[in-house]
Amino acid sequence: MTGIAGKVIAITGASSGIGAAAAAHLAGKGARLVLGARREDRLHAVVDQIVAQGGSAVGAVIDVTRRADLKLLTDTAVHQYGRLDVLVSNAGTMAVSPFDELRQDDWDAMVATHVNGLLNGIGAALPVFRRQRCGQFVNVASTAAYVVKSPQGVYAATKTAVKVLTEALRQESGPDLRVTLVSPGFTDTEGVGKGASPSVAEAMIRQRDEIAIPPSAVASAIGFAIEQPAGVDISEVVVRPTVQA
Ligand code: NDP
Repeated sequence: MTGIAGKVIAITGASSGIGAAAAAHLAGKGARLVLGARREDRLHAVVDQIVAQGGSAVGAVIDVTRRADLKLLTDTAVHQYGRLDVLVSNAGTMAVSPFDELRQDDWDAMVATHVNGLLNGIGAALPVFRRQRCGQFVNVASTAAYVVKSPQGVYAATKTAVKVLTEALRQESGPDLRVTLVSPGFTDTEGVGKGASPSVAEAMIRQRDEIAIPPSAVASAIGFAIEQPAGVDISEVVVRPTVQA
């Protein structure tokens, strides 16, 4: 299937920011969506808005750190729509801090969300894609996967893991599957500074307010990778403000 219309697309982290913008963008192009996140109220607000505008979407309350929850997401796609064409692994947390603050729960959360969360998605979607003999992974990393800037060490390491796992998956995927890495730079979402150490959150929010691109810009990049003809793999996209160093 070429294009976006009719495709069944599951998105993690769809309750706000880039995930919610991707949902709106893809719904506008006729995708059928299965949207996942933990905050039920925010998730259903996104679903309700899409449905109110004539789109097709269902929500699944999931925590990507739990393997069974990703299986629930992909099972929901198959039960609701009969197939799954794309899994967008976008859920993330930018809980950055200097090492000396020893915010070890935040380190664990970033590893669990970005690394285990991605692997849980691969584990759930790959058998479906193999059975169908088609499917696409779109994995959201960050410009932090390309350049480490202190104090983003753990965040950058987990996003580098996303980049490496995506390339390895692409190499093993064969001719039937497509695998895309989308790496945003500063994007205007509520996630910037949220959960970060107070020692850095203020500077992150200031920089976001000064230079960030809208989440719709990242959503367009995700859509671009999905709408290509079946044999065309957009392997890697970096989308950032022109003024971001
Ligand atoms: P938001 O905070 O707006 O979105 C993060 C989303 O991830 C939310 O929907 C949140 O929903 C979800 N989420 C977080 N943890 C979990 C979890 N354990 N299980 C399920 N869902 C989870 O921020 P962004 O939109 O900015 O972030 C989206 C992605 O983009 C992240 O991976 C982030 O690292 C990446 N990114 C963002 C940049 C930016 O400048 N904004 C720059 C580079 C990359 P809920 O809390 O309801 O579960």
